[in-house]
Amino acid sequence: MRIDLHTHSSVSDGTDSPAELIRNAVGAGLDVVAITDHDTTAGWGEAVAALPAGMSVVRGMEMSCQGMGEDGWPVPVHLLAYLFDPGDVAFARERERLRGERVARVRAMAERMAADGLPVDPEEVVASAGPAAGRPHLARALVAAGVVPTVDAAFVDLLAPRGRYYAEKADTPLRTAVEMVTAAGGVAVVAHARARTRGRLLALDEIRDLATIGLAGLELDHPDHNPADRAVLRELAAELGLLTTGSSDYHGANKVIALGECTTDPAQFEKLVSKATGVPVITA
Ligand SMILES: [Zn+2]
Ligand SMILES: [Zn+2]
Repeated sequence: MRIDLHTHSSVSDGTDSPAELIRNAVGAGLDVVAITDHDTTAGWGEAVAALPAGMSVVRGMEMSCQGMGEDGWPVPVHLLAYLFDPGDVAFARERERLRGERVARVRAMAERMAADGLPVDPEEVVASAGPAAGRPHLARALVAAGVVPTVDAAFVDLLAPRGRYYAEKADTPLRTAVEMVTAAGGVAVVAHARARTRGRLLALDEIRDLATIGLAGLELDHPDHNPADRAVLRELAAELGLLTTGSSDYHGANKVIALGECTTDPAQFEKLVSKATGVPVITA
């Protein structure tokens, strides 16, 4: 059984529509795929409707959070939330707030660029990006306008933290996020906790702390984790009794990673499913 528990559709910053994502997952030989767009469940319905016989979809989300870095300073952290009840009021409100933060941040960055003479129309960027607006949408606008040759090039300088145009957004405190996901019947898994290419790392002691309030697992096999970092996470998961997952973090044509590039062990997947009380895995 091949299981990929972290993918993005065009509902956030991927390029496949949810239905295309499912078709491509079948093409990649996957049996189970999770749809985990940033801060939104908007792709769930289309993904479920597109399921072919024998294929399973795990309804999930990747949540924007703020944790404590190894250096003692706040650090952005992504939390994967699986199989939660989308109708849980407190959690639904928080998702809506996060999407508001996304749109406001992209608009603020685009306005700073426009004020500086870059050929970017803030309203156009916000309108085309949709509710899960992110820096990749702004990056694509910069590529289309000929400012930079590629999306990656936009991130090197123009969109980088501490860069001239960067704007902050108020993400959910990691502890609150774990509590909210769990209270909504979901399963909380820290995404790519040792991905140093993305910046500073989350303190391992914060993971130890989260394990006492309901954190269920750690994403271990991820394209941005080197072997030494996977070993650190494997040891920590064993110490804390956390489950481990593997996933591609597929973004369609926005990144070079293929669906199924990393996968989750079926026994670990079974553990994850057994912890969920929000919504079931759907198999067509
Ligand atoms: Zn992420
Ligand atoms: Zn992701």
